[in-house]
Amino acid sequence: MKAVEYVEKIKSGELSAVETTKAVIKEIKKLNDYNYFNTISESLALELAERADKNPKGRLAGLPVSLKDDLCIKGVETTCSSNILKGYKPTFNASVVEKLINEGAVIIGKTNQDTFGFGSFNVNTDYKIPKNPLDTTRVTGGSSGGAAGFTALTKFPHVAIGESTGGSIAAPCSFCGVTGMTPTYGLVSRYGLIDYANSLDKIGPIAKNVEDLELVLDVIKGNDKKDSTSLNEDLKNDNKVKKIGLIKETLNVDPKIKDLVLKKLNETGIKYDIVSLPTITKSSLSSYYIIAMAEASTNLAKYCGMRYGQEEKVNLPFNEYFSNIRTKNFNKEIKRRIILGTFTRMAGYRDAFYLKAMKVRTLVIEEYKKTFKKYDLLVSPTMPIIAPKFSEVNKLKPKDHYMMDIMTVGPNLAGIPHISLNAGTYNKMPVGIMFMGDYLNEKKLFNIGNGLQDN
Ligand code: GLN
Repeated sequence: MKAVEYVEKIKSGELSAVETTKAVIKEIKKLNDYNYFNTISESLALELAERADKNPKGRLAGLPVSLKDDLCIKGVETTCSSNILKGYKPTFNASVVEKLINEGAVIIGKTNQDTFGFGSFNVNTDYKIPKNPLDTTRVTGGSSGGAAGFTALTKFPHVAIGESTGGSIAAPCSFCGVTGMTPTYGLVSRYGLIDYANSLDKIGPIAKNVEDLELVLDVIKGNDKKDSTSLNEDLKNDNKVKKIGLIKETLNVDPKIKDLVLKKLNETGIKYDIVSLPTITKSSLSSYYIIAMAEASTNLAKYCGMRYGQEEKVNLPFNEYFSNIRTKNFNKEIKRRIILGTFTRMAGYRDAFYLKAMKVRTLVIEEYKKTFKKYDLLVSPTMPIIAPKFSEVNKLKPKDHYMMDIMTVGPNLAGIPHISLNAGTYNKMPVGIMFMGDYLNEKKLFNIGNGLQDN
């Protein structure tokens, strides 16, 4: 059942939010072996469900919503799937959480992710690794893996809130066969989101169908004084798609993936050209990883065994205390990113790496701008592969992990909205198709998605 239909039934009294919530929580526990949830916020969920039954007014009245573990909920453990933040209970709600609760949503818990968002497969978590809903020997994709996996498996109306820095909404959607919207940078307030990379992070919904995405994005978007990068503009009203550009360089993938993407694109019945975007496809990946790691390394400085999460008795000089606790609680990927990120912004290397990456980012944005003068939307596969097996991922080097983001880093670097939809299956595993639009053109993406969805 779609969220819109479910909310209507809550409003008419045909369904009870408390009953649904109890059933969803039972289901989460039953699916425990998939490792989708880090925390179930059971008492909060029941309290919100009771409230929704008594006064079913909001646009999301009684709707179960899960949150990626990098979004703060007052009094609910929030860890970004990291050891260092174990035990951290925020004293406030993220703006997104406030908005959801104000519209009657039932917050059911926190979903598993790559630690701090660092990864594409959700194997870099300090919790148990989530498993693909369609084949438990395969990954969910990341970093919002728990969100996409649970969305695919749940039998109940549900929307997950994910977050993308370089593709973390689109990638797991593609691997799990669900749909996700990464909105324009700044459309959704980041207040209360634990930052990975501030200039790149975007919060967005993941669902089984496009209408649910639309409904929830409409609730969580909007200017917020608490986030200085929050936009003061609304979505463009024009939703007409007359011409699409298919990105030539992204077709160099497994022919089966390419065929499914082309077949889905043809279903739109909309004219398209094959366009070459050399700067975006060649340089986004290196620019993205330099900028993302530079920002991440500064954001991680605050985790020092004081204030947040893990703490020990301070019986050493501060520097040693900080080093010890960070050495103990940061996993390999976090350490890698701190070292690389710090290196690229150090005096002497800044010009060669960080500043150069920023210049490339501008060129990427300009190439998109030029292309959107001619095309309403761009399209590509979401991921170059289907969800790999754990045994395959274990053989990959860090650089191979980073290369997996080849399709998704471009739109994320530019901050343009993109939607991933299911294009069909290959080897029984889902394949994603990704449409990208110019700034604030989410309505065009919803429009194309509504016409295409069949899952
Ligand atoms: N895979 C990318 C990274 O590791 C993107 C992750 C994300 O969007 N949070 O940086």
